[in-house]
Amino acid sequence: MNTWKISLILFCLLLTGAAFVAAQQRQTSGVIVIQGATLINGTGGPSIRNGAIVVDGGRIRDIGPRNEVRVPGNAQIVDARGKWVIPGLIDAHVHFSQSGGIYTRPDIVDLRKWRSYEKEMEWIKQRLPYTFERYLVSGVTGVVDCGGPMWNFEMRDIASHTKKAPRVAVAGPLIATYLPPTTLASDPDIVKPDSPAQARDLVRRQLDRKPDLIKLWWVRRQGDNFNEQVQIMSAAIDESKSHSVRVAVHATELDTAKAAVRAGADILVHSVSDRLVDTEFINLVKNRDVLYITTLAVEDGYRMVLDRQVALTDIEQKLGDTEVIATWSELAKIPAAEIPGGVPHIPAPPKRPAAYDNLMLLESAGVRVVAGTDAGNIGTLHGPSLHHEMELMAAAGLRPLDIIGSATKNAAAVMGLQNDVGTLQKGKFADLVILDGDPLADIKNTRKIFKVMKAGEFLQ
Ligand SMILES: [Zn+2]
Repeated sequence: MNTWKISLILFCLLLTGAAFVAAQQRQTSGVIVIQGATLINGTGGPSIRNGAIVVDGGRIRDIGPRNEVRVPGNAQIVDARGKWVIPGLIDAHVHFSQSGGIYTRPDIVDLRKWRSYEKEMEWIKQRLPYTFERYLVSGVTGVVDCGGPMWNFEMRDIASHTKKAPRVAVAGPLIATYLPPTTLASDPDIVKPDSPAQARDLVRRQLDRKPDLIKLWWVRRQGDNFNEQVQIMSAAIDESKSHSVRVAVHATELDTAKAAVRAGADILVHSVSDRLVDTEFINLVKNRDVLYITTLAVEDGYRMVLDRQVALTDIEQKLGDTEVIATWSELAKIPAAEIPGGVPHIPAPPKRPAAYDNLMLLESAGVRVVAGTDAGNIGTLHGPSLHHEMELMAAAGLRPLDIIGSATKNAAAVMGLQNDVGTLQKGKFADLVILDGDPLADIKNTRKIFKVMKAGEFLQ
């Protein structure tokens, strides 16, 4: 073989080697660029038309107009022309210890004779991976579990190790002013202190499990001593805050909500619904930068199932858990007379609920409102119900841009993850949803899901 031939062979080998290395780089770089879409970044600022997002190592490396973003040569390109990108949605109020089915709240409709509470919990635990997935397929990449049994902390661990699961923030057992007699279990989801000292003790019991929030269930029933409640709940709030754990309070009456905020609550987990909010309340919430979670849909869910008039939205029909939905029709087969306490009647909603006007008053005052569903309650499905909630926020009068902010940026603040998720910005996790419709034209277009990405990985 002459020298010329040897050189040629060596040269070819070199070329093949270089090509092999290049191919390997292409395969292993893992950089994804989503380009051509309109970007709505969740901050409330203007959209970017024909944008590009560079995703690397699970995070957003760069984002901006396509002609200003440098695209690495070895990136996988996702052509998203004609589409819209929003941050991954976050439902700031759910309960994984509740299925959304008819057997899940024996304190409201007691069907334990037909399915025990323990059996319901077993079923819920078994179904957890599928429930997690309902969120991701619905474009929901983060959720806040606003209270449940101590098992909630285990559930958060399971979510963090499950590929098809949203990010999860949790509270442990609800520290309550009332203990429903029906939910007593070995690992109760509700605990009731009888004194300020007991309230502090119940907070401390959760602390070594590192709760993202402490949740208080402040309900008022006839004959309750409000001042005593204020003392007990204030002690719980004080104890949490002395350990730097934020407190979320269930308070649906204006007086209770005011007392909760005065005592230091960081988050109100339901709309005030008994009357219109006043200036004093608006100022309190605004000055203390309290996050205000809506939960407008949950009452509709109860009404729909208990009145046996099931009407689901399109996305609930498509993505909701069919086994949960199937339990709703089982109610019709049970004679009402055999149900202890009967089936509660949920009155028809007023033409315009006070919660709608309150939402608008708080939003226009600059309060951070947050989308949350209370999913897991009877009739409120894990996953797709967030889209129903957003539709009701629009019915109240909120602009689509603000609704998106409430279900992304503001909800991320409830999770305590505002530095990592909630907006599409450089350095944040690449949690996002690519849509086939413009959500600013109609909030219902958040249901037109093309692709969902969590931490830089596409779900499908
Ligand atoms: Zn709740």
